[in-house]
Amino acid sequence: MKTIGLLGGMSWESSVEYERMINQGIRAQLGGGASADLIVRSYNFADIEALQQRGAWDEVGAMLAKDARLLVAAGAELMVLCTNTMHIVADRIEAAIEVPFLHLGDTTAAAVQKAKLRTVGLLGTRYTMEKDFYRGRLESHGLAVVVPNEPDRTMIHDVIYGELVRGVVTDESKAAYVAAIDRLVARGAEGIIAGCTEIELLVTPSDLAVPYFPTTRLHADAAVAAALQREVRLTP
Ligand code: GLU
Repeated sequence: MKTIGLLGGMSWESSVEYERMINQGIRAQLGGGASADLIVRSYNFADIEALQQRGAWDEVGAMLAKDARLLVAAGAELMVLCTNTMHIVADRIEAAIEVPFLHLGDTTAAAVQKAKLRTVGLLGTRYTMEKDFYRGRLESHGLAVVVPNEPDRTMIHDVIYGELVRGVVTDESKAAYVAAIDRLVARGAEGIIAGCTEIELLVTPSDLAVPYFPTTRLHADAAVAAALQREVRLTP
């Protein structure tokens, strides 16, 4: 079994889910007392948020690339970046290490393709919904991506930073997300990507009438498969 490096803490509310899901996945496949072999770098999210707000992507990229190298030096044999947003600097990280980097855009696109869908609605931070790094990656796999309208994008972004990364989950925000999802479905989305690793703490598959692609779950399943060098087994 390969040792997995986790670049996490963005936020820890979802990183603990990564750890739990990866450990459960390894146990499900190997049985007994088996658990994952992990090396974790967990950041202070307040620092990360400040860098994002300043648009200091170069600084962020250099920091993540440096720490990815440290995880590899400590024994990591594959790398998982536990946030969609920070995939904005995925190329920097990938170029800095000689072990596989499990790009979340590729993992998500593979799940959408497996479900035989083409047009998907994308929820995430403003960076993920509005910049090209994530949508473009999905589109490079032949998917068509629909993003929420401006008021919905603001609401979705504000709930992530104001509530979800702080461990606050409310019925009111869930209802607002479900209404935004309904509007995406009305605009042609055949499925919905929870393209922020905290969103699945708020919205679950049973809240939706269309297929749901929760990125923490998908990434964790992909990490388990890569660590065991097996086919991805998607957790239902
Ligand atoms: N976890 C989030 C994501 O998947 C947002 C927090 C961050 O900015 O990294 O995009």
